[in-house]
Amino acid sequence: MQWMSRLLAGFRLSLRARLVFGIVVPLLVAVLLTMTAVLATMEQRAEQRMQEDVELIAQAIRLPVSYSMERDRRGSVHQALESVFQLDQVYGAFVYDAEGEQIAAVGAVRPRQEPDFVHDVTVTPDEDAGQYEEIDGRDVYSHYVALADEATGQIIGWLQVTRRASDFEEHMRQVQRQMLAGLLAGTVVVLLLVMLGHHRAVGRHLGRLTAAMARVERGERGVRAEMDGPRELAMLARSLNTMLDAVERAEREIQQRRSAQLELEERLRHSEKLAAIGRLAAGIAHELGAPLSVVDGRARRVLRDEGLDQRQRGNLEDVRSEVQRMSHIVRQLLDFGRASSRERKPVPAGELLGGCLDRVRELAEASDISLEVSEDTPDRTVEVDRIRIEQVFVNLLRNAVQAEAVSQVRLSCREEDEGIRFLVEDDGKGIDLENRSRLFEPFFTTKSVGEGTGLGLAVAHGIVNEHHGWIDVSESRLGGAAFMVWLPFQRRRAEDVGEALSAGLPERISQD
Ligand code: ADP
Repeated sequence: MQWMSRLLAGFRLSLRARLVFGIVVPLLVAVLLTMTAVLATMEQRAEQRMQEDVELIAQAIRLPVSYSMERDRRGSVHQALESVFQLDQVYGAFVYDAEGEQIAAVGAVRPRQEPDFVHDVTVTPDEDAGQYEEIDGRDVYSHYVALADEATGQIIGWLQVTRRASDFEEHMRQVQRQMLAGLLAGTVVVLLLVMLGHHRAVGRHLGRLTAAMARVERGERGVRAEMDGPRELAMLARSLNTMLDAVERAEREIQQRRSAQLELEERLRHSEKLAAIGRLAAGIAHELGAPLSVVDGRARRVLRDEGLDQRQRGNLEDVRSEVQRMSHIVRQLLDFGRASSRERKPVPAGELLGGCLDRVRELAEASDISLEVSEDTPDRTVEVDRIRIEQVFVNLLRNAVQAEAVSQVRLSCREEDEGIRFLVEDDGKGIDLENRSRLFEPFFTTKSVGEGTGLGLAVAHGIVNEHHGWIDVSESRLGGAAFMVWLPFQRRRAEDVGEALSAGLPERISQD
């Protein structure tokens, strides 16, 4: 079917051709028909006039010829005939006696025999007769007049005046030629006017419109049609522009949705990976927990023995401190692998921050770092598992305090969209770009062995995800790292999160 419409489109006439075929051609046909009718009327009139001319001439010499015949003056008859022959219109003039015998003739060609009518046609003295006939191979028109005796009224002869039919035909041919030339010139002028008018009124505007559309088709999506020219074309251009704007908007929207979906998929993959690692870690931690408490218990019991010397006591204290470190790791692993948060309750944002600051204050003071909390904390609540969320902020604050070249850590929050955005910033050296993407992976650490486990941010990420929030990292206005945590006011259902994501992710880090 497509090839057919393409074929038809190939045969489709242009607007200019349609104008020519729809207006100019019918107009010319109408003119041609009118001309033919006018010509026919003119022909008829001219023929009539020619016949009348011949008749008038015949009538004019009728009396002198009759008079001369009555008196049997052949010379005078001939003279009378000669006088009419001087006239241009006359081709020949002939006189016959009552028996039909030719007694005088003037003209280039003479009829070879007497005309039939003398015997056949009854022409009374009051009546005239005219007829077309052929004399010496030429078409002529003859007018016959009966010559009557003045006294008795008896027919004494006949007068024939002829005129060439070709005189009249020649005249008509000339008129036809002139009319045809006029028609041709008129056609050319009308065609030129139509084409020029079409170009000025429609063609050039349509040309600009189609050129603009062709550019859009080639991929220049920003091109728009000029809204000039006649009202209809300007409206068409406006509609096209509106359509192009709508298409562009829709494409942008699809693009946004696609990238939001990709980001969501990436996050889901990441979360699934973390969940799998978490389950593994929790399994190992669970198995390690019992032997570690046995080792610690035994060490404690042996330490109670008063007979131990200083070196043995020191060794046992070392064992206990390493076991405690291992227990800390095991606890973190268990936190990381825990499936979901326990009970959630609405907690005022400010209260949440205060509790966390208290837990790291000692560590900060030991390193001479100032801890600040913003004053304009919103008095809204977030529905959270308080212990777990506090753990998130404690991990972030502890990292900030422990980061290189830090002297100031600031904790702030503000209401944003349907939740609260918390910000933990420091003035340290910040985080290298290449490390940022791996920051939330479990066991990723830049700290030396024994100082960091690489689980703090992974645990924080898991907890924030459980609360259907977001955690992200960026640069701080203080010069170091900035960690942002966004938590919804209310507990969200999984479907709501999906919808919110496809409508566009909330802005995660903004420094304004
Ligand atoms: P850990 O603290 O045990 O190394 P985390 O998961 O808490 O594990 O942190 C991972 C890494 O992220 C850290 O080793 C550190 O390199 C980097 N990091 C976290 N917070 C900051 C910060 N505020 N400034 C600079 N680097 C940081």
